[in-house]
Amino acid sequence: MDYRGRLQRLRQVLRQHRLDALLITHLPNLRYLCGFTGSAGALLVSDNAAVFVSDGRYKAQARAEVQSARVLISPKSPLVAAAEWLKAKRKKGRHSRPGKLGIEAEHLTVAGRRRIAEVLPSGVRLKAAPPLVEQARMAKDAEEIERIRAAVLLGARLFDRALQTIRPGVKEAEVAAEIEYAARRAGAEQMSFETIIAAGERSALPHGRASEAPIPAQGFVVCDFGVILAGYCSDMTRTLYVGRPTDEARNVYETVREAQQAAVSAVRPGVSVGEVDRAARKLLQKNKLGRYFTHSTGHGVGLEIHEIPRVAAGQTEILRPGMVITIEPGVYIPGKWGVRIEDMVVVTERGCEVLTPTGKELIAIA
Ligand code: ZN
Ligand code: ZN
Repeated sequence: MDYRGRLQRLRQVLRQHRLDALLITHLPNLRYLCGFTGSAGALLVSDNAAVFVSDGRYKAQARAEVQSARVLISPKSPLVAAAEWLKAKRKKGRHSRPGKLGIEAEHLTVAGRRRIAEVLPSGVRLKAAPPLVEQARMAKDAEEIERIRAAVLLGARLFDRALQTIRPGVKEAEVAAEIEYAARRAGAEQMSFETIIAAGERSALPHGRASEAPIPAQGFVVCDFGVILAGYCSDMTRTLYVGRPTDEARNVYETVREAQQAAVSAVRPGVSVGEVDRAARKLLQKNKLGRYFTHSTGHGVGLEIHEIPRVAAGQTEILRPGMVITIEPGVYIPGKWGVRIEDMVVVTERGCEVLTPTGKELIAIA
């Protein structure tokens, strides 16, 4: 991974935002900027320095993983140690003007901010920074896309496992357990979120986490799951039918499938994410199902399962090559059923490539 290039680009962004340094504490951002995969650390990036701080537990790991920054191991909390390092550095140099240290406002706790402020020299002010690293992470480079591709393929193989397991009377949790066991056996580090298996009436819950409920003899089953492989997440949803689908069930399914396809077809560079959302929503509205589509059309995916951009109504972010997003419209009729179909797509120079290889025709399990 091009950690040095990422740091250089971040420094340009810091200058644009008139920040003298940025203190990064969000773990996926640390991984993105310096390769550290542990669970405690902080990275201080200024124009001419990059220092990664962690505690004794991560001494060997940090030295092995961190490539783009100096590694400092301290018994103190990484936040305090980073602030002290900054203080010592300012003491050595001659600073006539006050400095501005950016903090990750979306991730730092109020208590964490206070601890930093207590240590900081008087000449340095804290400033809540926008999600600068997340913005940089939106467009993936070739190496990242290869990892995402591998995660998506592994995830898709697990759907076969679900198909072998799903039948009336089997608990939703048993299906999830089979998927997750197969995921670990196939090399996944972990699931990228809690597996959703929602059958019958429960399919109307957009986030119906697999429960102890048995799969009924008739109805939809929404399967939404993903893995983390080499740090990168996958996310897919397929909805299948147990029993013989009624005409109404087929119609609803086909409409969601068309809406999903309409949104995929709208994905290309220069288009706003709001327009992609509108493509799916318009089709469902035309078929009088618009009011049952109660969430956004998708989200970015990468080191985290939910990243920017949000593919939602009114969002203005413009798609660029390398962005990886999900397209996942759904229809949920409370007390009755729900259908969702989700693929991951990568924006290319001219349009997009659907990464998820799994077919989307309605599968009925007799
Ligand atoms: Zn999903
Ligand atoms: Zn998703």
